Amino acid sequence: MAGKTIGFIGLGMMGAPMCACLVKAGFRILVADADPARVSAICDDLSVSPLTKDVAGEVDVLITMLPNSKIVETVLLENGWAAALRKGSLVVDMSSSEPVRSRDLAATLEAQGLEYLDAPVSGGVKRAREGTLAILVGGKETVKAETMPVLEAMGGSILFIGPAGSGHAAKALNNFVSACGLMVTVEALHVAQRFGISPEAMTDVLNASSGKSNTSENKVKQFMLSGTFGSGFSLHLMDKDLGIARALAQSVDYPLTFGRNGIDLWHEQASEVGPTADHTEMYRLLEQEQD
Ligand code: NAD
Repeated sequence: MAGKTIGFIGLGMMGAPMCACLVKAGFRILVADADPARVSAICDDLSVSPLTKDVAGEVDVLITMLPNSKIVETVLLENGWAAALRKGSLVVDMSSSEPVRSRDLAATLEAQGLEYLDAPVSGGVKRAREGTLAILVGGKETVKAETMPVLEAMGGSILFIGPAGSGHAAKALNNFVSACGLMVTVEALHVAQRFGISPEAMTDVLNASSGKSNTSENKVKQFMLSGTFGSGFSLHLMDKDLGIARALAQSVDYPLTFGRNGIDLWHEQASEVGPTADHTEMYRLLEQEQD
């Protein structure tokens, strides 16, 4: 992999710092995004060049870090990026996409002579900057093994899950657990406050006790109680992930007796906020008026 060229499409909250990690690890990268201002900013900041169809044949690994499956498919298949690659090149979709669609995409790309991995990430913007993301890989294990230097440039733990689509399935389930955990943590904090326990004190209790979670440790004081609501992960992207988890459960005929309430509540709240709302704003949204 050393000396390989990486094409990177999707220079948002996650894609931009992931590109910086790849450059730091010594890879040559070429970048693209629907927003030309983001392309210019990354090219200036990292001294890299734009990815264009003219140079796409130089790409060994094409990474997508885009909002959802529909956009990934549009970019690769309709916009012609897959067709512009050299046969034998690898497409790695690191977005949080839909597992069944990813399986189909893998087959479509393979029929075009390309390899495919799904490699969604967990850890948020902070770990994207540090290069310590958890990366959940689906696809052929041999391809994953060859791609380890690229993945290790961005990740702290690289977990091979299974065939194409498995990484995306695991990611959706992880976020289902994370979102439900966030909501019960937030509800506990509001109950505590009404009883006279400060949310700061209650967070300390959780962090010293069995209710500790990623939310209590890394989100409550940092982004909720501080009022910054600036984790960098949008409430709508989490809503999309919960929809993926719900569809996945339906596809295997598992009813989600407890969790479906959380998914419904999240979806309801998402309809109340604009597209840029951070997912930590759930703290504010669940702070119900007292009669
Ligand atoms: P973002 O909205 O900040 O960035 C998405 C980028 O994709 C933007 O730069 C946008 O211009 C670009 N884009 C959209 N449509 C495009 C198109 N048709 N062609 C080219 N570029 C296009 O999103 P993000 O927070 O970076 O998330 C990206 C993916 O990673 C999502 O699937 C998300 O669910 C997942 N994710 C996000 C986080 C997080 O903390 N933000 C953590 C883990 C996983």
